[in-house]
Formats: sequence, C-alpha cells, structure tokens
Amino acid sequence: MKIARTIRELKTTLDSYRIDNQIIGFVPTMGALHQGHLSLVIASKSVSDITVVSIFVNPLQFNNIVDFSTYPQTIEADLSLLQEEGVDVVFLPSKEDLYPTKPVMTMNFGSLEQVLEGAFRPGHFSGVGIVVSKLLNIVKPEVAFFGQKDLQQVAVIKMLVQDLSIDVKIEVVPTMREDDGLAMSSRNLRLTSDERVSARLLYRILNFCKIELIAGNDWLQTRQDALTLIKQEPLARMEYLELVDTYTLESQSAYDATKTLSLVIACFIGEVRLIDNLPVNL
Ligand code: AMP
Repeated sequence: MKIARTIRELKTTLDSYRIDNQIIGFVPTMGALHQGHLSLVIASKSVSDITVVSIFVNPLQFNNIVDFSTYPQTIEADLSLLQEEGVDVVFLPSKEDLYPTKPVMTMNFGSLEQVLEGAFRPGHFSGVGIVVSKLLNIVKPEVAFFGQKDLQQVAVIKMLVQDLSIDVKIEVVPTMREDDGLAMSSRNLRLTSDERVSARLLYRILNFCKIELIAGNDWLQTRQDALTLIKQEPLARMEYLELVDTYTLESQSAYDATKTLSLVIACFIGEVRLIDNLPVNL
C-alpha cells in the first residue's frame, strides 16, 4: 500500500497506473475509519483496478469549531484497516498542501442549501463541494464512492459533478449499521456509554415512522408521535425529523407511494450530533 502525503507524490503514483489504463476508484474520507468506510472500499475494489482512499479532516466544512477540534483522529488504526482491505494508495494531504491559501470562492447548491444539513450547518456544503472538487481534480478517478448515510451530501455531489461536467461516475453505497441499528459514524467514538445506548433512538425513530407510513398512517400525526418518543429520551435533542424526496431532499407533508421517499433525522445525543436516514420505498 502506497502512502502519498503530497499532491505531487500522489499524481506521480497515479500517473504510473494511468499509463496502463487501470481503472481508478476513489473513496474520500475524514478518517476514524469503520466498517461503513470499508464497505465503500470493498465497492471500489469490486469495480476498479486501483483503489485510492483519502483521509483529510476538511476544516472548510465544519461550521462548529468544537466539532472540528474534537473530530476523532485514529490514523495508525486507519492505515492498518486499509492495508488489510487491500487498498492500493492512501492520500494523506496536509492542510497547507490542499489549502495553500483559504479559498475565496464559495459554492451554493440552491434549494439543497435551504433544508436539513444545509439549513442547520451554514457553509457546510460549500466546504464539502470545494474539497470534493479539489480531490476529484487531483485524483481524477473513473469512479468515486459515497455513503447513503450522508443522503444530502450525495445529492450535492451529484449536482457538483453534473453542473461542472466532472468526468467521474458517482456510486452510492448503502449505510452500514451496528447490530442495534445505529448507523456507523466516526462521531460515535465520542459517545459515552450512556449516550451510546441512547443513540439507538435515531434508527428506532426512523423505523417507527417507516412502519407507520407503510401501514397507511398520516405523516404529520406519525411525526408528532415520534417527537413525543424523542422527548422521553433525556440525552436526546432533535434538530429535524422529515419525510423527504430522496433525490431533491424536498420536505413532504404526506406519504406518496409513487415517489421515492426517505426519512431523515438529525439529533444531538449529549454533545454529539448524529444524522441518519432510511428509504421508505425503494
Ligand atoms: P466521512 O469520513 O464521515 O466523511 O465519510 C466518508 C464516506 O463514508 C462518506 O461518503 C460517507 O457517507 C461514508 N460513510 C460514513 N458512514 C457510513 C456508513 N455507516 N455506511 C456507509 N457509508 C458511510
């Protein structure tokens, strides 16, 4: 497994693969890797000759300084997991290399900025758009892999690639969960043992809502019942719970079986902000 710590090193390494027309698959991450990240790696390995994983905690996408400064970093463990998984190249850029100067430009994803993560984390998607643009320009993969866990991010990346005509195929990989349903996330490492127990709430609420909707119950009433359940959990503080169009993230006031819909939730458990989503009808 090659480790490239600079853009130049990475480009030299990848150019040698390109001469042989090898298909490059790319998995961008912020590290503190878990099985969810590794499922993206496995997906990449199944369709690519060379799998590149980047690890970079992108300061530009954090709207909360505490979230950034406490973001878990487990680089040695990450590298052994990637080695075990048979990753070909790991890109570990420094902040200075990726951002020699703080970008002046910003990105706006239209209506996606107005809702959910866009509304609760101002500037977040601009930061995501800029770092993903940079990484795609540097790595130039044929395919890039993103997790369905970050549903709105997927919509943002697809818009980015379409609007800027970036020549890359975007593959979306289903959410990996712990045995009790909690979506795997690097931020789970920050939960205390009590909080870890209460974090099961997110998936429980999503499933409760899905079952109610499939049974034909009214969404607004279901949402109300779910909010009551959340209020009973003392460690939880909900930010949003919505029924949305899976592709546009547009909020729905009623269930419509002819549309592709997802339930989305963001909730603080103690000090840790967690997000999750569940497709209602595939
Ligand atoms: P992050 O390191 O949190 O920026 O995540 C890197 C990539 O892994 C993103 O495309 C995420 O959507 C994806 N990812 C994170 N958690 C999971 C999960 N539990 N299952 C599948 N993919 C995930």
